Amino acid sequence: MITTPETPSKEPVAAPPPDAAAAPEPVIAVRGLRKRYGDLEAVRGVDLEVHRGEIFAFLGPNGAGKTTVVEILEGFRERTAGAVTVLGTDPAHAGGAWRDRVGVVLQESSAEPGLTVRECLELYAGYYRAPRPIAETLALVGLTAKADTPGEGLSGGQRRRLDVALALVGDPELIFLDEPTTGFDPSARRAAWDVVAGLRSLGKTVFLTTHYMDEAERLADRIAVIVDGEIVAAGTPATLGGRDRMDARIRFSPPAGAGPLPAPLQPLAEPGADGSVTLRSESPLAHVGVLAGWALGRGFDLPDLDVRRPTLEDVYLSLTTTDRKDRP
Ligand code: ATP
Repeated sequence: MITTPETPSKEPVAAPPPDAAAAPEPVIAVRGLRKRYGDLEAVRGVDLEVHRGEIFAFLGPNGAGKTTVVEILEGFRERTAGAVTVLGTDPAHAGGAWRDRVGVVLQESSAEPGLTVRECLELYAGYYRAPRPIAETLALVGLTAKADTPGEGLSGGQRRRLDVALALVGDPELIFLDEPTTGFDPSARRAAWDVVAGLRSLGKTVFLTTHYMDEAERLADRIAVIVDGEIVAAGTPATLGGRDRMDARIRFSPPAGAGPLPAPLQPLAEPGADGSVTLRSESPLAHVGVLAGWALGRGFDLPDLDVRRPTLEDVYLSLTTTDRKDRP
């Protein structure tokens, strides 16, 4: 599971959205969070804020400190230092009323053996003061048709949906989702994404941990990346790590005898071993225009022309594979 922070000396990476002045206090506020296990400082000064109604994705490689941060936010792990507020309360000292407002979907399934899906939900609903109606919860996760199936009779993906249903039956305001679609087939993933996006439209706040960049891109309003216990970047999927300012790549294969490229493109060109040319461009629209004018003026086509912006995965890999000293 997970959460997000920031580098202490810079402005907060997980900065509030522009309208935050009008917003109430954040659902999650973390300042200077540290966690030490013996000689290992696993979390090293994390700052982050999560606002009501947003889906916040927490990304990072194995061992980066995600689970540690998330479990501190959930009140399951003690911190070494720092200030943490979740739904207005320090999770280290929170009681039952606070826990009713928080839903947790762990990686490991928690369904009860011997109970049907409906019975399992009824059992969990009994723990809450104001549970969501069972039928509504089943519909929300697409398990209505499986209501009378024993938990053991569910597929892996259906079981994961039951996990989500169990977290939702208490009608929490804040939901922690730990890798909610690991092991899902592509259509089950889409269905799960619809469920998560549906939580946002219900006004819930979602703290999502995932290793899938497409999932983060599809669902997250904001993303933070943690590496070696420090937040190395935070932003929207479009802006994370300066993605919106990164060069595009324009790739094409000029036909034999095409002649030299137009002068403005020549400094951008990198020849490929297969005869293709790649232009690294800050202004792809303008450069594609020059390229198209050149090709059309000479009467040839560029059938494999490809314009590619950096993907979220490109950005993530560059953030998580750069030595710390080289990071911006
Ligand atoms: P993953 O993606 O693999 O789940 P993570 O980002 O969730 O990783 P954590 O589980 O928070 O990472 O672990 C961060 C670091 O702290 C790792 O080096 C891990 O070995 C260490 N660590 C985690 N829990 C403990 C513990 N209870 N005792 C000692 N070290 C721990």
